Amino acid sequence: MTIKKCKICGANLENTFNAREMMFGIRKEFPYAQCSNCQTIQILEIPKDIASYYPEYYYSFKQYVPPITGLKAILKRLFKKYRIRKHRHEILDQLQPLNILPTQRILDIGCGRGKLICEMFNYGFKNIQGVDRFIPQEYQHGHNVKVLQNDLSELKNDSYDLLMMHHVFEHMEEPMNELAKSYKLLKNNGYLMIRIPVVNNAWSVYQRDWVQLDAPRHFFIHTEKSINIMAKEVGFTVTNIVYDSNSMQFWGSELYKKDISLIDEESKEFRKPDDFFSPAEIADYEQSAKELNYNNKGDQAIFYLQKKEYEKVI
Ligand SMILES: [Zn+2]
Repeated sequence: MTIKKCKICGANLENTFNAREMMFGIRKEFPYAQCSNCQTIQILEIPKDIASYYPEYYYSFKQYVPPITGLKAILKRLFKKYRIRKHRHEILDQLQPLNILPTQRILDIGCGRGKLICEMFNYGFKNIQGVDRFIPQEYQHGHNVKVLQNDLSELKNDSYDLLMMHHVFEHMEEPMNELAKSYKLLKNNGYLMIRIPVVNNAWSVYQRDWVQLDAPRHFFIHTEKSINIMAKEVGFTVTNIVYDSNSMQFWGSELYKKDISLIDEESKEFRKPDDFFSPAEIADYEQSAKELNYNNKGDQAIFYLQKKEYEKVI
């Protein structure tokens, strides 16, 4: 059945358009529309065969998971961190506004095989797990770093200090429900960090060729307004928003404009921008993305949501 109302705020959908599957170059078209109120772009009908659009070599499942090596690796990484600033892992910057302690309990939702949680363990986070409903089996990486196969509703409530969703929220069919489940899992004052593409400048410029539409895998492309509506409904406080777009918003969309897929159909590898654009062009794209981020107009962002429950005054 085709959806006609916004699943976030209930307002009418408008500006229906067809977006093409271009990551793998299948080029099949899927109808999307934009909400007249919260501006969220959403797919009108979730394909019944959606699983077939996540082939085995899809990046979440083909990631290199570093071995967990404990103290030695931590010291080595910490040493590196101070020695070569540019090798600092981006997760450390992303977590900076939260003051998360190494002993606090962290869950990475939709983590694939657990690449990030293993890297974070090697950076000193001691109490970290992942969960992904779509993995073929549970993964045990050692030192109690494991990836669970559960639905969020099956995990223990009030038990996490930080939940992370790195580019998975836009793939969820019922975002409000997932947000409500996340809220329950958090301890009081705990945080949910959501990294997602957002409707912004790149959408205005590239429209159906915008790389982050990623039809049909992205069911919702959110806006600040839609996240605020959902956060309020569930009880979260949005404490901070950081835009973190990069040059791909330009070069990926430029490739789609030229009818070139993101993944090479032959090698099954991601295409390299250097094969299509000059170093000056890529530097220009990187600079433009930085400027857009500075002005809150980048095409992806990190939303920091806090569970703040106040004690009842008797
Ligand atoms: Zn809406």
